[in-house]
Order: sequence, then C-alpha cells, then structure tokens
Amino acid sequence: MGKVKFVYDFEEGDGKNKQLLGGKGAGLAEMTQIGLPVPPGFTITIEACRQYYANRKKLPKDLMAEVTEHIKHLEDKTKKRFGRTKNPLLVSVRSGAAMSMPGMMDTILNLGLNDLVVEGIGKATKNRRFAYDAYRRFIQLFGKIALVVDDIHFDTILEKIKKRIGAKFDTNLDTESLVKICAEFKKVVKKEFGRKFPQDPWKQLQMAIEAVFSSWMRKRAVDYRKEFKITPQMANGTAVNIVTMVFGNMGKDSATGVNFTRDPGTGENVLYGEYLTNAQGEDVVAGIRTPKPIAQLKKEMPKQYEELERTRCLLEQHYREAQDFEFTIERGKLYVLQTRNAKMNAAAMVKTSYDMVMEKLLTKEEALLRINPEHLEQLLHRQIDSMAHAEPVAKGIPASPGAAWGKVVFDADEAERLGRLGEAIILVREETKPEDIHGFFQANGILTSRGGKTSHAAVVTRAMGKPCIVGCEDIHINHRNKVVTIKNHNIMMGEVITIDGATGSIYLGEVPTVDPEFSPEFGTILKWADEIKTLGVRANAETPEDVARAKKLGAEGIGLCRTERMFNATDRLPIVREMILAEKTKKRKEALNKLLLMQKADFKKILMRMEGLPVTIRLLDLPLHEFLPSVELLVWEIERLKEVQHSLRQTETIPDSAKLFLEPTLQKYLLKVKHAMSNLSEIRKEHLLDELIKKKEEVLQKVRDSTEVNPMLGNRGVRLAIKYPEIYRMQIRAILEASVELIKSGVDVLPEIMVPQVVTSQELKEVHRWLEAIKRDVKKECDIQIPLQFGTMIETVRACMRAGRLADVTDFFSFGSNDLTQATFSFSREDAENKFLPLYNEMKILMDNPFEVLDIKGVGRLMKITIDLGKKSNSNLKIGICGEHAGNPRSIEFCQALGLTYVSCSPYRIPIARLAAAQARLKEKKLDHAELNNEDYPFNIFF
Ligand code: PEP
Ligand code: MG
Repeated sequence: MGKVKFVYDFEEGDGKNKQLLGGKGAGLAEMTQIGLPVPPGFTITIEACRQYYANRKKLPKDLMAEVTEHIKHLEDKTKKRFGRTKNPLLVSVRSGAAMSMPGMMDTILNLGLNDLVVEGIGKATKNRRFAYDAYRRFIQLFGKIALVVDDIHFDTILEKIKKRIGAKFDTNLDTESLVKICAEFKKVVKKEFGRKFPQDPWKQLQMAIEAVFSSWMRKRAVDYRKEFKITPQMANGTAVNIVTMVFGNMGKDSATGVNFTRDPGTGENVLYGEYLTNAQGEDVVAGIRTPKPIAQLKKEMPKQYEELERTRCLLEQHYREAQDFEFTIERGKLYVLQTRNAKMNAAAMVKTSYDMVMEKLLTKEEALLRINPEHLEQLLHRQIDSMAHAEPVAKGIPASPGAAWGKVVFDADEAERLGRLGEAIILVREETKPEDIHGFFQANGILTSRGGKTSHAAVVTRAMGKPCIVGCEDIHINHRNKVVTIKNHNIMMGEVITIDGATGSIYLGEVPTVDPEFSPEFGTILKWADEIKTLGVRANAETPEDVARAKKLGAEGIGLCRTERMFNATDRLPIVREMILAEKTKKRKEALNKLLLMQKADFKKILMRMEGLPVTIRLLDLPLHEFLPSVELLVWEIERLKEVQHSLRQTETIPDSAKLFLEPTLQKYLLKVKHAMSNLSEIRKEHLLDELIKKKEEVLQKVRDSTEVNPMLGNRGVRLAIKYPEIYRMQIRAILEASVELIKSGVDVLPEIMVPQVVTSQELKEVHRWLEAIKRDVKKECDIQIPLQFGTMIETVRACMRAGRLADVTDFFSFGSNDLTQATFSFSREDAENKFLPLYNEMKILMDNPFEVLDIKGVGRLMKITIDLGKKSNSNLKIGICGEHAGNPRSIEFCQALGLTYVSCSPYRIPIARLAAAQARLKEKKLDHAELNNEDYPFNIFF
C-alpha cells in the first residue's frame, strides 16, 4: 500500500471532497482553482486528524515532514521565508470540518513570529507598530489555544495598558505600548504555562496543528455537534488549513470583513456584510469594534468594492448557492480567505430559493431541496402585536427575526440553569463567545450591546432561528449588581423584557405577540412542494381556530379530530359528568342528548370549514375518570361540608340563649341574629347540606370504582365504548346528522369515523354495527347518501399483527405512532421524556427521542408489517399517520418510503410537512433499486 498523502496544496486539492479537506479546505482549493485571489496555502486532511485520535493524540509519523515540504512550496510562491528574519513568512492555522461549525474549533493567526522575526516583519513592512501588534495578538491566541492560558490574564494586561495611556481602542495603542504588551504577555505565558513562549516557528507550527486537532473534541464542539445532530458520517474530525497571512491591519488602505452574497436576514440579492479598516478578521467576528456596513466601502475603496461585487457573482455562479465569505484588503489588494454556504434564516432561505429559480441559477427541485424544513418553523414564529401599541425603550441592530420575551439573565450558565427549569429567558450580554453556546440553546432570545450582523451572537441565532438583537449601545450591564440599564431604565436580573429581532426593538415587560403573515415567495415555494409531493398532508385539529389555521397553512384535510378535547370545555364538563354519573339509562340519555346537540354543532363547523376535504373524527379516547374530579378533591370537599354541617347543628340553640344573655346594648342586633338563624334552619330543614354530601359521596364512590392502576392501558377508547355504547352512538349520530344537514344545504362533506385503541376486528365490527343502525335511522328521516368512511387507529401491537383482519372491515388505517411507540418500547409516554430518555440519548443508548423521531427499526418495522398485511386483504386501504412523528421531516421521509397516503400533524407544522414530503419524494426519485437494497439505506429496516 502506498504512503497516505496527508497534505494538499490549494492548487491540487479536490474542492468537492469536503470529507477529506473539510469545508474550508475544499472551499480554498476550489476558489484558488476558479481564479479567485486566495493567499497561497495547503490543507492537512481530516484523515490525519482521525489518525491523530487513533494514535492516542499523536500526529501521524510522516506528517511534519510532509508539512515542511509544503511550507517550502509556500516560500517559493510568496518569496518569503518561514522563521527567517529577512522577509519572513507568517501563516494562519485554521480548523475546518466537513460540516460548518462556526467558532466551535480553533484558529491561530500570525504564526511564525518570535522575538527576532517580529523585528524582521517590522523592517519588511516598514511598520514596527504593525509588527508588534501582530505579535501580541499571536502570543495571546497561541497562548490561549496551544498553551491553554486563560484569556483573562492577557485581557487584564491589555486593558491596564490601554487605560494607562488613555487608549479607547486597540488601534490607539502606540508601538512602545505594544512592545510592552508583548513582554508582559510572554511573562504571563511563563507563569501560567510554566515554560517560555516557544520561539521556534516549526515547533509553533506543530503545536498549533495539534491544538486544532484537539479542538475537535473540545466540549463546546461536542455540544454543538450534539445539538445540531452532526453525526460521524456527516463530519468526523477537522482538517487544518495553513494559509499565508495577509493583513487587514496595515493602515488605512487595508481592511477586513465578512460578507454574504445575499442578505442572510431577508434574502435580498445584495452584497451584504461589514468591514473594518485597519483591522484583523477576528476584530469583526468578535464584535469588539462595531463594524461599518459594506456599502460604505464603495465610497472608501471603490475599486476594491467593485472587485468584491465581481467575487460575489463568481462565487454564486460557481457554487449555485449563497456564500458567506471572508476577505482582507492588504495595502489595496483584495484577498478572499474563506467561503462557505451562507447560513441564513428561513425567510432568507425561502426568498433566495425563489429568486434563484427566477434567475435560472437553480431548478425548482434544487430550490426545494436546499431549504431545511425544520427551519420553516422560524417563519411561523410570532411577531409583536401591532395592536398592543407597545413603545420600544431602545433599538439595536436586528440580527435574527422573531419576537420573544423572557427574564433577563446575564450569563450563559445561568441561562442554561433557568431555561432547564422551564423559565423563559433572554440572554443579555456585551457580546457572546462560542463558549456561551449552552446558554443559547436554552434562551428564547439574545440581546447584545456590541457587535454587528456577523458577530457571533447574530450568526448563531440565525442558524437556530432564535430572535436576536446585537450592537445595542444603549444598554449597559452591571454584572456585579446584576442589573442592566437600558437608556434610563434599570432592569434587574429576572425582570421580563421583550425583543423583536426583526426590527431591533426592545420593550419592557411582556408584549403580546401574534401569528406571522407569509411572504408571497413562501406561498410559491409551498405550491411547488405540493406539485411534487405525493404524500397528503393533513392536520390534527378540533377547535375552530386550529381548523382555520390548518386550512390557511395548506392542510388537505383533518387527519385527527380528538373529540375528547371537545368535551373538556367548561360548559360541557358538567354535562359529561352528568352522563357518567347517571345511574339510570334515562338520565344518561338526557345528558347525551344535550351533548349530541353540542357535538353536532362542532362537527358542522369543522366539516363546513374543510368543505370538500376529508375530516377524520376519532371517537372518544380517554378514560372517563379523567372527566371526573380527583378522589383527593372530593374527600377534601366532603370533609369541609361535614364541618359546616356540624357547626350548623351547634347553632340550633343560639337564638334562645342569646335572648337570655344579650346585654341591652346588644339588643339591637338580636333581630339580625334571629334572621340569620332562621336562614340556617331553612338550610337544615331542607337538608340541603345532607343532600350535597350524599351526592358528593356517590361521586366519590363512582370515581373510586372507576380508578385504575394504569388508566392509559385500561378502560379507554373502544373498550369504554363496548361497555357504554351510548357514547359512541351519540357521537356517530352527531357526525351523520351534521353531515346530512350540510349536504342538504349544498356543502360537500367527507367525514371519516375513526375508532381508537383497537386490538381486534371484533371491536370494529361491533362499532360498525352501531354505525349501520344509526345510518338507517338517519336515512329514515332524510334519504341522503353520506360519503362516509370507516377506519381504525393502529396504536397497539396486536392491531399491527392483526392488520389483515382489521383491513377487512375498514376503509383506512391511521397510525397512532405516539401510543404505538409507547407500546413498542413499553416506555410510558408521560414519563420517559423527562425521566430517562435524555440520559439514554446522552449515552447514545438511543440516538433519538423515539417520541419525536420515528423509531424505524422497531416501530417502523411494525408499520411495514401492518401495511403489508392490511393491503393484502384490502388493496384500496388508505393509510395515514397522526402521531407527533407526522410533523417530523426525517419520519416523513420514512412515511414516503412506506408508501403512506398521508401524514397528519399539528397545524403549525403543516408547511414543514409539505416541504418535507416534497423533499422525500425528490430523494426517493433519485434512489435507484440497488440503493434500496443497500444495507446503508436508512430505511432498509430489515437489516
Ligand atoms: C397516537 O397515539 O399517536 C395518537 C395520535 O393518539 P393520542 O396522542 O391522542 O393518544
Ligand atoms: Mg393514541
């Protein structure tokens, strides 16, 4: 076997091979090869990183020899010498995995500097100040990353010297101060690291490469991969890019910036970004100085601005994707340092997808595939209600849209702690750093006083779809007193504020929010999705508001109307209780008749709203005792009533006694006492309390009788109906009568009756018998044909195994994947998610939460068996899914692979499901037969 090649010059690397070169390395290679001005450099492969870990954190044997050879190429290309004082070559050492993980791993700049080289740089550039500025930056960065010296030691010295000479910004530091800072920094290294700052550039290079490799397993990088579900198949290690340093801090004709080829907040087709003159790249990203909008560069450096515009076009034409690129202008010459696919919020993704199709840069299919369906949720985020007429107290730079409120918290650890306790949090900071990421996960929104639209806070929140405002200079945080001053308002930690990331407005207190309006581009994208997808998308909804929302969001029907939720309304609960507690059939019928009218009205509303579309109404599926008061409450009430009864008895003799003992001064009250006593005796005579107590005791007995050890596996769903058929009969009648009335008035209805918790076809046959009888009854009054379908939920394992028989008596199946997951795992769906599943996920015993992402290998396999059995006995069988998984894109892809008819999810997830269904169809079309039989095919559940 030949020697493995670990190092590739940018001219030779395969720009398509991100798994080998990492995203950044591949980008640098590709940009070099299409003629963009990239500083010369090379990439050490991800394979080297893998071997580093396989070899107990030791670099592969021949790696440094190969690196040395490529440094020689660099020297030839740049005519500079690494480690020499005459015309020295400095390099940056940059991380870069196959997937972008902004700020999660390390980068070291200005490597190659030492006490002698710094003077050489000073001479070569005729700028000693610049040389020492680079050196102090290098010592700090190298010290922090490779020598693990805490930043705070360096920052303290820097601030002290700045203060001493009255420098507001780093740029105000003179040469002498910078020389002093370098000396002090080296002392810090000696003290904290225990050895002198390494002066040998080759040694520095090796240590930097090792540090970058190590940063792959650093906590924040691991957390990030976990949060964004980056699997080892997607990214498995980091490459290291060694790039010739170019300097944006060489004076007024130098600059550095981060740009997007389109606005990542709105998607508008303009060069978007920020820059700083006389600065290094890290100054822009860290948000230490507030940068200028890129449009200003047009005035300041028109030639370079034109070049940037050209670069923007070239990048987009080449990558056919919006790019996020870094540039540096060194003494008037433009360099592009990095490019990657731009992380944009959902609004921008939608707009650019639409625009790029119009510009013929992408096909509709490509445009649909580039949007992450989960991100669409951002567009469904709430906005500040304009009717609230709330006045903002301050404004910052809008960095990531959406409105959010929460308690003010000033550090990420606290945000994480409180967020985990379920508190709504707004994380407020001067600026954020990658190590704050855990606080981001828990916060509802982020507010910073510094930084621009490309600062850390802005980039990360946009990717997460969380509201964010940056650079709000009106806020001042006092960490010691835990208070933030916004203009002249003092807000203590824990007080609530509201932020609007779309406008940059900050409000005191909680401001009401409303549903968003969709852009026309979003509507078009969803229409394209509908043209492609074959899977139907329905909604789970029962309230008129939810049904209306579902329709507006594009639901093609209702896939699950949970009727028990309709019984919980305050005006219905007493009637439901009346029905449950009725001893005699007559009484129960009276209560049911009242409910019949209410249910009929409900169904009419839903069927009318969904005119022409199927509406699946699930018959009652809750244990009856859930409608009854708890034993504890009843016992408590009865005890109190008995106390009152006892007191009442003791008052019987009061009027006479009072006559004897009352003082003349109190005589005037006697009449009142008598009056009160006569009222009490009336209560006594009428035995009102006795009756109430008796009633409560009866209810208590009934509740006790119906209490089950495990009600979710007990007398619920169809089992309850078999015991009390009147309930389902009432619901069936309500559905049929509502349908008849609507049909008579010209409304096109498609009701579907669905039975829950079924385990055997005998249960279905029984319900179907009732249905037929009621149909005949209704027909007697009005001979109208109702296009009714009859189906069952599939949510028990037995139902799966007996699917063939169930299909004999039904028109459709709907997988209740919530209960089916519970039954398959024997995990309680009420408890698993907060008791042990997080630990299972953390320990990778289970990769996902099976109540969120469908478990393909277990539940999925049952589904497949069910479908095969069901279709075999009824080829017309329609099959849907209505558990939570129906709104999860990965699960939707599986549903497509299974050939389901539709998915039914909560109204807010409908746009997500529509897009996910289109993507699933497109991906399916791409797969060939060989792939379907491949062991790695994710949906090949039989492996
Ligand atoms: C299910 O079990 O998946 C389902 C949709 O029913 P519910 O969540 O109401 O039990
Ligand atoms: Mg269920």
